[in-house]
Amino acid sequence: MDNDPRRITHWVGGKPWSGPAGRAGDVFDPATGRLTGRVDLASGADVDAAVTAAVTAFADWRHSSLTRRAQALFAFRELLNSRKEELAAIITAEHGKVLSDALGEVTRGLEVVEFACGIPHLLKGGFSENVSTKVDVYSIRQPLGVVGIISPFNFPAMVPMWFFPVAIACGNTVILKPSEKDPSAAVWMGALWAEAGLPDGVFNVVHGDKEAVDRLLEHPDVRSVSFVGSTPIARYVYEGGTKAGKRVQALGGAKNHMVVLPDADLDLAADAAVNAGFGSAGERCMAISALVAVEPVADELVRKIRERMDGLTVGDGRRGTDMGPLVTEAHRDKVAGYLDAGVAQGAELVVDGREQKIDGDEGGFWLGPTLFDRVTPAMTLYTDEIFGPVLSVLRVPTYDAALDLVNTNPYGNGTAIFTNDGGAARRYQNEVEVGMVGINVPIPVPMAYYSFGGWKHSLFGDSHAHGAEGVQFFTRGKVVTSRWLDPSHGGLNLGFPRND
Ligand code: NAD
Repeated sequence: MDNDPRRITHWVGGKPWSGPAGRAGDVFDPATGRLTGRVDLASGADVDAAVTAAVTAFADWRHSSLTRRAQALFAFRELLNSRKEELAAIITAEHGKVLSDALGEVTRGLEVVEFACGIPHLLKGGFSENVSTKVDVYSIRQPLGVVGIISPFNFPAMVPMWFFPVAIACGNTVILKPSEKDPSAAVWMGALWAEAGLPDGVFNVVHGDKEAVDRLLEHPDVRSVSFVGSTPIARYVYEGGTKAGKRVQALGGAKNHMVVLPDADLDLAADAAVNAGFGSAGERCMAISALVAVEPVADELVRKIRERMDGLTVGDGRRGTDMGPLVTEAHRDKVAGYLDAGVAQGAELVVDGREQKIDGDEGGFWLGPTLFDRVTPAMTLYTDEIFGPVLSVLRVPTYDAALDLVNTNPYGNGTAIFTNDGGAARRYQNEVEVGMVGINVPIPVPMAYYSFGGWKHSLFGDSHAHGAEGVQFFTRGKVVTSRWLDPSHGGLNLGFPRND
């Protein structure tokens, strides 16, 4: 039957997995609520098989020339760029975000592929001639081996692309474990790598849940783990991975504040709050969820935001709407639960997303954009990462009170300040304890040649994603001291080596 859910399986050794199916998970189209796929959930033995393929591939790939690696990345880039609409459609069908947003996600991932095309330059080491008489020293960076990437549901293409282009360019082989909620993008990218001529086993995809993650964390041949997801799981992965002796970067959850100072352009700020609060239904780690209005601007700002929200359309992301559904029914219900809690705790419900008119199938996982005013730091609307289309306005009397609120929050992923005062903006960028800061820019996602990552509970480990830190993370350094024999240097000397 046409409506039967598809089987979505692993991608190992350059082809779809041919092993037996064990446990499986449901995959839905969030805009209709229909079950569209059943994804294989790997057992420990399945993970082992993928790691074996990656270990085998590493033996050759680590010796491939920089030119060869750059060519594979260029080929992948060209294919992805020419077929990005196809990938965007896959993302929309399983995640729910609107097509234009899915395309934006692919484009931001492509930028990392383009960055990694420059790998010959990025891997250049240092060289010092004659550190001692006729002795030279040089540094090189070498790949780690098999690297694990564990990604969240909200960016099924971009987040994996924060890591795998750089990892592969550096000479590693990859096991990607995508979110089991929207697994098809990862497999599609696996097939694209094969088309681009990447040797079999360099890029592998293993679907799964905790069982697969635990095996990746403990497998002795997996040298590093790059994780992105919620804070409790990020902490778990960081602790488990480092305990097993691995290099780990674990990016966690977020609660991003947008501070609006009294001198800000309130139209610009209101546009930004709506775009960054409700884009992708708030399911972005850089979404703005706490709007900190420094008085006396709150009344006017709330009015302007409300006006803009009146014009937002919500519905099936394939129909040109502004905002799509949430990823699953359970997630929609959880987010909707915060609306009741907010009212019960005394926040002012300005726009109720449950009353939004929907341009889509009744069975979709819908919740419209919601605005709360007069939220206080003790309310669950503020203490929890909601990860949905819910924007909370907190009113504070001064810049110092705003800064204190942001810096007291346990998360530190992104933040923005809206002001026309350069001095205030500069002070904020200096004083705020957050990894990514926007000045009159609400979603300050760094370009691929800088590194992405937060502070505090938003990142465990010390390496951010892509850019120079990505290259550093996926390689280890070696320093070589060399002397080519010269008769004048003969003879025994048991002293500690000196440079003279
Ligand atoms: P999640 O933590 O539920 O899942 C992330 C990954 O961990 C998935 O691959 C999942 O299969 C796996 N996982 C889930 N439960 C596990 C368990 N008990 N043990 C081991 N592995 C487990 O996150 P999500 O709901 O997919 O994604 C949303 C979260 O990701 C939000 O908290 C968001 O802020 C965060 N996020 C952060 C960033 C960032 O850059 N900091 C970027 C994107 C998303």
